[in-house]
Amino acid sequence: MENCIFCKIIKGEIPSKKVYEDADVFAFHDIHPAAPVHFMLIPKLHIASLVEVEEKHRDLLGKIMLLAPRLAKEQGCTDGFRTIINTGRIGGQEVYHLHTHIIGGGSEKLPVMIPNPS
Ligand code: 5GP
Ligand code: ZN
Repeated sequence: MENCIFCKIIKGEIPSKKVYEDADVFAFHDIHPAAPVHFMLIPKLHIASLVEVEEKHRDLLGKIMLLAPRLAKEQGCTDGFRTIINTGRIGGQEVYHLHTHIIGGGSEKLPVMIPNPS
């Protein structure tokens, strides 16, 4: 996709701090980290959001889920981490190239994202 910043990051047209790359997947640190470890795991294939995934993406999605804990550990998340996929307007998605945030590191428990109303 021509104007997609994450496609440009994959191609090296926008610089990033790379965490991992293979034929199908790219991972890089978030420019505005929310915690000591905060990187994104993305498919090289441009899929705009989780709403757009289809049966043909099953292996790719499985690969991302399998890589998430491995890379999180390698980056220093030794006691857990959070994965977030913001989707669409309600989900607060800003970049429309499917991405899984992996957030953790440090020793403090991450804050609750959506407080329980009770
Ligand atoms: P979203 O809100 O779409 O789930 O998250 C998009 C994320 O991409 C944000 O956390 C934002 O900081 C990150 N981001 C946006 N532009 C860039 C960029 O050019 N480089 C990097 N490394 N991260 C970016
Ligand atoms: Zn893209």
